Amino acid sequence: MLETARLFLSATANHPISAPLNLKLNSGDRALLILYDQLNLEAFPKELLAQKPLIIFVESRKYAMVIPHHKQKLVHILSTQRHFAIACHQQGFPVLNLFTEGFHADAIDSLLAEYPHLALTYMQPSEWDTRSQFESLAHKFNGRVQKIANSFFIANAEKYKPKIKKGYRLETFYRELRKQTGYLMEGDKPMGGSWNYDKENRKSLPKKIVIPEIPEIAPDAITQEVIDLVKNYLPDAFGNLDRFSYAVTREQALDLAKLFMQSRLANFGAYEDAIKTGEPFLFHSVLSVYLNNGLLMPQEICEMAIAAYEDQNNLDQNNLVPLNSVEGFIRQILGWREYIRVYYEAQMPTARTQNYFGFTNNLPQLYWNADTDLACMRDAVTNVLNYGYSHHIQRLMVLSNFSNLTNTDPRQLNRWFWLAYIDAYEWVELPNVLGMSTFADGGILASKPYVSGGNYINKMSDCCAKCKYDVKEKVGDQACPFNYLYWHFVDQHRDSFAENGRVSLMVNTYDKKTDPDKQAIRDSAVKFIASLDSDKMVQPLYRDLAR
Ligand code: FAD
Repeated sequence: MLETARLFLSATANHPISAPLNLKLNSGDRALLILYDQLNLEAFPKELLAQKPLIIFVESRKYAMVIPHHKQKLVHILSTQRHFAIACHQQGFPVLNLFTEGFHADAIDSLLAEYPHLALTYMQPSEWDTRSQFESLAHKFNGRVQKIANSFFIANAEKYKPKIKKGYRLETFYRELRKQTGYLMEGDKPMGGSWNYDKENRKSLPKKIVIPEIPEIAPDAITQEVIDLVKNYLPDAFGNLDRFSYAVTREQALDLAKLFMQSRLANFGAYEDAIKTGEPFLFHSVLSVYLNNGLLMPQEICEMAIAAYEDQNNLDQNNLVPLNSVEGFIRQILGWREYIRVYYEAQMPTARTQNYFGFTNNLPQLYWNADTDLACMRDAVTNVLNYGYSHHIQRLMVLSNFSNLTNTDPRQLNRWFWLAYIDAYEWVELPNVLGMSTFADGGILASKPYVSGGNYINKMSDCCAKCKYDVKEKVGDQACPFNYLYWHFVDQHRDSFAENGRVSLMVNTYDKKTDPDKQAIRDSAVKFIASLDSDKMVQPLYRDLAR
């Protein structure tokens, strides 16, 4: 069966849409388009699937090229979609896998033009541009194109959209969703008496702790075919493709989720904010990649975590899940992930252009090649090059922090995150970068800019011990650049701190420094920023993204 399906796919994957497809269609036949990040039949209406519609997939070259993504991300998108197409075919659906030089909607446009009797259903795309393209298409083929709501999320975006403004914070949203879903609730009270156990979740990593390995999934023939395709088409795209070990089917992704619940969830909470050199994953789930393309549904992952907490008998006694871990994990998915999505729905398209601090510096070259003496930055970028992944605290407190402190245009950082990460789809990546981590929206999503000096990184990681710079030095060539850059930032952007009681203390602390100390901070910061090789993009493929 697999072989038939593969032959079937091979025959259609490179079939130019302009050539006749010779589909045998009856008047009123309905096709269902499934997009690259909607790869789960559970999310589609049962009545629609019962009619066994022709399921259409599109491989869009333009989508891959507008921002040439990390090689592993391209492999992941294409291979997962092909595996899913085969799974649909095996379940008895007729399947059409189209290839187009244009966008997804361009392929469908040609198909609808060629087959005037064909009607199409599509699910609301999660990304803005794909959504706009399909809206135009629906307008053009008025009456033949039907849109259904996107059911890959838990929160009702329409209900929460109007609340997204300054002052509305995650905590309020999260508590409402806890009540709505009943997750970790005892009646109308939070389990354990508290909504939030963050205080227990900021531990640094003990030296001897064992970090369970995540099994590598060897590429099968389909993935290998796609790896070769990406290597040939986009040899200069960002990232390494020497190894690819992500799951490409729902079954594989579910196995990884189960393993996370058994072996890493227990320590997820305590070490959520820790960083260890050479350990990209620590106790994180690495499930965003599968949640974001539909292989896994957010509800089922939350419920698996709650089940692991409630049914501890099935767990190894060394891996008992404490409440702070399961609550922390649920807050990431039910809270942050859903909140971020509602923010995107509420703030697009203006969210794309925000630059609250008016920063104009280009993205430093080290984001492209990890070529830096700063151990924390080198480790974070190396992880991204090798896996298209780094965990949250490296994204926030290392990569974004450095970008903020060096006055980098946040829109450039935004594009880098979008292309560089395997889990980056615009709806989730953009709010995290332009809302949360760079304060580019002026404080709608976050209450303060995420910036810190070297002490924070030293406390949470082992990087500083391996660094050429000295985290204890405050200014000068040997000092950790995060130190003086941080105080320089506090001084430059004192107004953005003033509204926030806790961090406005930092402005007071800066003001108490002596004039020579302040001058030394300024001199070190200006010299360091000028030394960054920010004007040249390393890879020609990305030069146009500089502005
Ligand atoms: P875990 O630490 O195991 O967390 C569990 C799950 O919670 C994740 O899989 C994810 O689905 C969800 N989650 C946690 N935090 C967030 C958040 N802030 N926003 C949305 N979901 C969250 N996440 C993406 O999925 N795609 C992105 O492109 C992305 N870009 C980011 C950029 C920046 C600058 C920052 C600060 C965060 C970004 N995040 C993004 C959020 C978060 O860092 C990742 O979801 C997480 O690191 C993914 O790894 P994991 O699956 O091991 O997560």
